[in-house]
Amino acid sequence: MTALRAHSLRTIALRTRSYGTVQNPPTSPPWMSKIPPVLQEATTATAPRMNWTREEVKQIYETPLSLLTYASSTIHRAHHDPSAIQMCTLMNIKTGGCSEDCSYCAQSSRYNTGLKATKMSPVEDVLTAARNAKANGSTRFCMGAAWRDMRGRKTSLKNIKEMVSGVRGMGMEVCVTLGMIDEHQAKELKDAGLTAYNHNLDTSREYYPNVITTRSYDERLKTLGYVRDAGINVCSGGILGLGEEDVDRISLLHTVSSLPAHPESFPVNALVPIPGTPLGNRKMVPFEKLLRTIATARVVMPATIVRLAAGRISLSEEQQVQCFLAGANAVFTGEKMLTTDCNGWEEDRAMFERWGFYPMGSFERPGAGGAAEAAQGMKTETEAEGARVEATS
Ligand code: SF4
Repeated sequence: MTALRAHSLRTIALRTRSYGTVQNPPTSPPWMSKIPPVLQEATTATAPRMNWTREEVKQIYETPLSLLTYASSTIHRAHHDPSAIQMCTLMNIKTGGCSEDCSYCAQSSRYNTGLKATKMSPVEDVLTAARNAKANGSTRFCMGAAWRDMRGRKTSLKNIKEMVSGVRGMGMEVCVTLGMIDEHQAKELKDAGLTAYNHNLDTSREYYPNVITTRSYDERLKTLGYVRDAGINVCSGGILGLGEEDVDRISLLHTVSSLPAHPESFPVNALVPIPGTPLGNRKMVPFEKLLRTIATARVVMPATIVRLAAGRISLSEEQQVQCFLAGANAVFTGEKMLTTDCNGWEEDRAMFERWGFYPMGSFERPGAGGAAEAAQGMKTETEAEGARVEATS
């Protein structure tokens, strides 16, 4: 008997029992029939499942929203501290001039968005930004570069590895998003101390060609495979509001939840329409779709960090809290999120305070990766600085 069923049956039994009478065998209330058995079973599962069928994901996604979010919240509490929200900061370390045609992106060189392309930021500037993010409460620092892939970028990779080690030395989780990478580059990044690699699938395999034509869905999955095989945590999510339908959101959720291992992180982005891009006139995805996607992600990937990502600035505080209650447990915070505006640290800390949330520590949960290294004494910034002084003296 599932937890939901047991709980509801106990409630009904208490309501219907008369003092001094024999208790009737309990029956399920009518609303229980609106919860598909697969969702009832998910509430008592003790380990993540990778063998979801698309039909099962569909049934979960289509559950009446109040019942779906109740179940996702129950699952969230079983796998995470429901008050802990991870604060991450995402810095663009190389802006614009990208050869790809992602039709939502301000950084594609194919669209006239008014964004000025820059060279890669110097290592020291990036480390200063990471220190600032840490001082403000972020425990994960992500770095993005507007590239198709890492081919022929030896010097850039060397600098990025320095950035990665430097940020890890501060005791922060560190993530990069650099486009497609191969197995050698994944290994080099892992050796530098990388916690996670972000490479979003964006949408369903079926809808994908409407959004991007310059690289295939399979190429994206290949990069995720290299990352996973190198022992780096996978961060891969979607963007809602690209013009996709429920069937596409279900398909995306099915794809990520039936990978050989669930991504450690699943970012849920709401499209921020950028004037000048082909999707510049799109309306914000309805909040109900965003919430439903978050709740379904929590059910099908119970141990994953579900990241409320781009577009959060357009949500009211109450809508954000609904997302946290349904299972989202990470936000991007700081001055900017790549090229778009972002909720700031102070604002987020005040919101957490009002609603009883607190910032999650680095490597605080199972699956974060690197916890063992942290426990084994990965060098802190102070220790690393000491070592540098020793080496040069
Ligand atoms: S690959 Fe990344 S930076 Fe380049 S256009 Fe696509 S989303 Fe933008």
